[in-house]
Amino acid sequence: MSFFSSFSCRLSALCLVLGVAGNAVWGQIDADDLPELGDVASTDLSMQAEKKIGQEIMNEIRRDAAYLDDPEIEAYLNRLGNRLAAASPDAGIGFHFFPVNDPMINAFAMFGGYIGVNAGLVLAVRNESELAGVLAHEISHVTQRHLARGIARQKQISGVTLMAIAAAILAAHSNPDLASATMAGASAGAVQAQLGFSRDFEREADRIGFQILQKAGFDVRGMSSFFSRLQRATRVYENNAPVYLRTHPLSVERISDMQNRELNQPYRQAPDSLEFLLTRARLQAMRGTPDEAVTHFRALLAEQKTLHVAATRYGLAVALARKKDWAAAETTLNALRQDKIASPMIDRLYAESRVRRGDAAGGLAAFREALGRYPDAMALIYGYGEALLEKRMFAEAQTFLTQSLRRNTGDARLYKLQARAYAATGKMGLQHQALAEAYALEGALPAAIEQLELAQRAKDNDFYTNSSIDARLRQLKQKQAEAK
Ligand SMILES: [Zn+2]
Repeated sequence: MSFFSSFSCRLSALCLVLGVAGNAVWGQIDADDLPELGDVASTDLSMQAEKKIGQEIMNEIRRDAAYLDDPEIEAYLNRLGNRLAAASPDAGIGFHFFPVNDPMINAFAMFGGYIGVNAGLVLAVRNESELAGVLAHEISHVTQRHLARGIARQKQISGVTLMAIAAAILAAHSNPDLASATMAGASAGAVQAQLGFSRDFEREADRIGFQILQKAGFDVRGMSSFFSRLQRATRVYENNAPVYLRTHPLSVERISDMQNRELNQPYRQAPDSLEFLLTRARLQAMRGTPDEAVTHFRALLAEQKTLHVAATRYGLAVALARKKDWAAAETTLNALRQDKIASPMIDRLYAESRVRRGDAAGGLAAFREALGRYPDAMALIYGYGEALLEKRMFAEAQTFLTQSLRRNTGDARLYKLQARAYAATGKMGLQHQALAEAYALEGALPAAIEQLELAQRAKDNDFYTNSSIDARLRQLKQKQAEAK
C-alpha cells in the first residue's frame, strides 16, 4: 500500500521538523529545552513497522467486546484528534482515534498512531479543552516516538520481541483477570509496563501537548485543570487510582510545570462544540439499562439542572431509542430540529426512528434530505444503507453503496454493507469480492485472499467481474509475498 511506502520519507521529515527546523516550527520551544533523550528518528523501530503492529493490534481490538463500535462517536474523536494532530510536530503520521466502552478514566497511545479513548474519560472531563488536553498529551507520545524509543532503550529488540509484546497485549485483552483493569488498561499497561513511559517522556509529552493545545485553539488551562482534578481524586481513592495514572505517572512537578506554562498565556475562551456535547450525551445514554437512562435524562430536564438542554434532549432520544420507543424518540428529535439545532447525529437518529416506527417512506426521505446537507457524514451513509437493506430495497442499496464507495474507497464498513446487499440478491462473486476489499482494508490479507478465491469459484460472475477478481488476487498475493 502506498501508505506504507511513503513512510520512510515522512520519518526524515520528522527529523527535520524537530532538529533543523525546530525553531521555525516550534518557536516557543527553546533548543536547550529539547529532550536529551536521543534523536527521535534514530529509533530502531521504523514508523512503517510501528504502523503494521498498530494495525494488527487494532484488528484484534475491533473484535473485542470492549471496542465501542459507534461510527458517530468514533467520527467525533477523529475530528477532534485530527484537529490536534494537525497542530502537532508531525501531522503526517496518520492518526486513528477509537472509543473504548470502559467507564474508567483512560486514554492510551499504541504503536503507529492508534489512540484509544475510554468512555469514562469523555464523561469525566468538564469541557472539550480538557479532553483535548489529554489527547494532545497522547498524540505527543506518538509524534515523539516514545513507544519505539522505549523499545530502543531496551536494546536488542528484534521483530520477534515486538511480536511478543503484541501477543502480550492481546493476551491481556482476552483474559481480563491478567490485568486489574479492562482491555484498555490492560493493553496500555502491558505495553507501558514493558517500556515504561519514563518521567522524561511524560514531561516531554506535557510540553509538546501544551503547544499542540495552544496551536489548535483550545483553552490551554484544560490540561492542568483536568490533571490536577485527577490527582486530587487519586488521593481519595488510594488503591483505586485511575488506570491513566498508572501508565502516565503524575507528579506535583508535572502539574506545576503545566501551571507555569499557562501563566504567560492570555485567557482564551474555547466554547464546547455541539458535537462534543452530543457525543457526551450519547455516551451517557448508553450507560445502565435503557429505563435507567430514560429516567436519568427525564429527571435532568424536569429539574432544569442541565446547562445544555439540546444535548440533554438528544441524550433522552438516544435512551428512548435503546428502549425501542421509536415514536417518542422521533418526537424528541423533531422538537430539536424545530429549534434549529443542526447536527448529522440528530438527523441520523431522527431518520432511523421514523423508519423503525413504521414510516419507511418518511424515514428514507429524511435520510436523503440529511445526506444532501451532510454528504460526508459516514454514520448517515451507513444508516441509509442499512435502512434500505432492512426494507429489502436491494437494488437501491446496491446502487447507493457502490456510489458511496466511489467517494470513500478506504471504508471497510461500506464494503461489508455492499457485501450484504449482494448476498441478498444471490450475487455471490460480487459478495466475496466486496468482503475481500473490507478485509484488505483492515490489513487481514489472508482473509482477503480467501474471499477472492471464493469469488473466483462463484458461478454468477460475468467476464468483467472475473478478470477484476483475478487481477486483484494477483495483486494481494504479491503484497503478501512482499510482507513476508
Ligand atoms: Zn503520558
